[in-house]
This record gives sequence, structure tokens and C-alpha cells, in this order.
Amino acid sequence: MKPFEKCPVCSGELENKQVEKLLRGGGNTVSLKVAAEVCLHCGERLYAEDVVKSFEEIRGKLRKKEFSHFRTLGQSFTVEENWPNKAIQPTA
Ligand SMILES: [Zn+2]
Repeated sequence: MKPFEKCPVCSGELENKQVEKLLRGGGNTVSLKVAAEVCLHCGERLYAEDVVKSFEEIRGKLRKKEFSHFRTLGQSFTVEENWPNKAIQPTA
């Protein structure tokens, strides 16, 4: 059973797709692939209720720095304060 038949934003057609999702918490990031209903018109992504709960669980683990069930995938960086173009700023 689909949670939605049409996009709640624009009433566009939805298609089940694997999308890449970034979750952040406590300065850390987890990337993952997840099934979503994606609006073919506006790009809105809809997730099943249990998936949304899992996202919250993952953000909670990141905030508490509990890294079980995660593995490292590259490194993430931000720029230093003195980057030559002042339009570019560190995120934290
Ligand atoms: Zn839409």
C-alpha cells in the first residue's frame, strides 16, 4: 500500500525510486540510499512512516555519537575561515 497516491504539494504523479539521502547530527553526516515516492513534476520526496522513524533514529545516534551500524565512507571537510573568497564560509 502506498502512503500517497498523488504528490501532496502539486498533485503530480509519483514514482517509486531509490534516492540518496544525507542525514546530519552533531556535526556528522550519514549518506544512504532509500526507497522513496518521488514526484515526477516537482521532485518532492515522500518516505514511508517507518523510514522517517529510521531517519530520526540515525540522527539521534549521530547526536549521541553512537556509531554502531555505521561505517566510514571517505572523510567530510569544511573550509578554513581564511578561504580567499569571502562568499565561501565554513559550516561550523
Ligand atoms: Zn509534486
